[in-house]
Amino acid sequence: MFELSSPGRSAAQLRATGIAPRDLDAMIPSEHRRDDVLETVDLAERDLVGHVTRLSARQYSVDLGAYPLGSCTMKYNPKMADEVAGLAGLAHVHPAADASLTQGWLELLVTLEERLCAITGMAAATLQPAAGAAGELTGLLLMRAYHSARGDARKRVLIPDSAHGTNPASVTLSGYQVTTVPSTERGLVDLEALAARLGDDVAGIMLTNPNTVGLFEEDIETIAELVHGVGGLLYYDGANLNAILGQARPGDMGFDIVHMNLHKTFATPHGGGGPGAGPVAVGESLVDFLPGPRPVRQNDGYAWATPARSIGRVHGWHGNALVLARALAYIETHGAAGLGEVAEHAVLNANWMRRRLAAILPAAYDRPCMHECVVTATALKDATGVRALDVAKSLLDEGFHAPTVYFPLIVDEALMIEPTETESPETLEALAEALERIVARAHSDPESVHAAPQATPVGRVDEARAARTLVATEDMATRAGLR
Ligand SMILES: *Cc1c(COP(=O)(O)O)cnc(C)c1O
Repeated sequence: MFELSSPGRSAAQLRATGIAPRDLDAMIPSEHRRDDVLETVDLAERDLVGHVTRLSARQYSVDLGAYPLGSCTMKYNPKMADEVAGLAGLAHVHPAADASLTQGWLELLVTLEERLCAITGMAAATLQPAAGAAGELTGLLLMRAYHSARGDARKRVLIPDSAHGTNPASVTLSGYQVTTVPSTERGLVDLEALAARLGDDVAGIMLTNPNTVGLFEEDIETIAELVHGVGGLLYYDGANLNAILGQARPGDMGFDIVHMNLHKTFATPHGGGGPGAGPVAVGESLVDFLPGPRPVRQNDGYAWATPARSIGRVHGWHGNALVLARALAYIETHGAAGLGEVAEHAVLNANWMRRRLAAILPAAYDRPCMHECVVTATALKDATGVRALDVAKSLLDEGFHAPTVYFPLIVDEALMIEPTETESPETLEALAEALERIVARAHSDPESVHAAPQATPVGRVDEARAARTLVATEDMATRAGLR
C-alpha cells in the first residue's frame, strides 16, 4: 500500500471534532506529541479495495478448495455459523455489560457448555481458553490444583513420542517435567514402556485419541487403569475429536480433562492466525477448580459465578465469544445424529485416500485409520531423491493446499493427510490424481519436482530462515521511497 501511495489521495473522510486546539494542548502535553510528520498511506478507496481484493485472490483458503493439512481439521465451515456470530445482538455486546443485560449471551454459553459436556462425556467445562494450547496449559494447571489440594506434590507428566509439540511445551510451562513414552511398531502407546515409567510422582498422562498417526488407541481402558492406579489423571488432547464426534466419548474412555479445538471441529475457520477457542471439560472431581467467572443457571435466569477453589482467569474476559457462538450454531444445526455423520464421513474419506494412495505413497501403519492417514515418502526418496517436502510443494502447483509434512516425528518422510468430511468424492479423486502425477514426475523428471512450486506467487522458501533471522518490522515508507 505504501508503494501504491500517491500524496493527496484518500479513502478516509475525517470530520471536525469540535475540540479546539488549546483543549488538545491541555489533553496531550507537547512532550508527548510527535514532531515529525505522520507517514500515511494515501490511496483512493478504489485502489485500496482493488489491492486487497487482488491479494485475497492470491491466497489459498478453506473456502477455495481441499486443505488436507493433517491434525488441523481444515474443513469447510458453513457460512451459517458466521451469520449467527455476526448478529448484532451477539456481536455488539460489550463483555463488561451486566449479567442482567446479557441473559441471552449467558444462555448461549451455558447451553454450549452443556453440549460440549454431552459430546465429551464430562461434568463441566470452562469456555475461557483461547486455543488448544491455551486449553492444555489450563488443563495442566487444573491437574496441579487437584493434586495440590490433596497435599500430593507430583512432578512428571507422561507424553507419547508421537505427541503434538504443544503437549511437551505446555507441560514445561506448567512446571511439570515431561517423560516420553515410546510407541510400538503398530503406532500405539507401548503399554510395557508406559508401566515402566509409572510411579507415585506421575501427575498424569496427555494423549490424543485417535493419536497423531490417525490410529485409535485400542488399549485406552488399560492405559486409564494403569495411570489412575498410581493416582494420576488422564488429559485428552481434543484436536482429533472430529474422528469420534457423536461416536465415542473421552469421558467414557477414562479421561479426566479434555480440551476441544472449536476452530478445528466446530465451524471456525483458522490458519490465518485465529481467533480460536479451546474449552476444557473436566470430570466431577475437578469442577471446583475451573477458571472463573463461569456462566451458570441461577433461579430463572443466568449469572456469573467463580468456583470455590478456582485456578483463576485464563482469559481477559469470557473467552473468544464469537467462536463460541459459531460452535453452538454448528452443534445445534447438526444435532446428535448429524455430528455422528461428521465423524463417519471424515473416517471414510481418510480410509479411501489411504487405500487409493497405497501403490505410490504407502501408509506408515498399514491398517484402517481414523480421520487422517499418515503416508511415507521413504521409498520414493530412495528411488528418486524426491522427498515429502518436494511432494508437498508440487501439490501447490496442482492447485491444492499441501498436507502436513514431517509430523509426527516418529514417521520417516511423513505426509499426514486429513481430507475431512466436507470434500466430495470428485475432489478426493482429483487430489489423488494430482499426487499420482507428482510421483510419476519424480521418476521421469525429479528436478522439476525439486523446483516446485512454480505457479504460486512465491516460490520455494527457506523453511528455517524466518525463524532464525526474525524480521518483525519494516520501514515501508523508506522502502517505497516516500522518505
Ligand atoms: C492443533 C493441535 C494442538 C494445538 O491446538 P491450537 O489450537 O493450535 O493451539 C494440539 N494438539 C494437536 C494434536 C493438534 O493438532
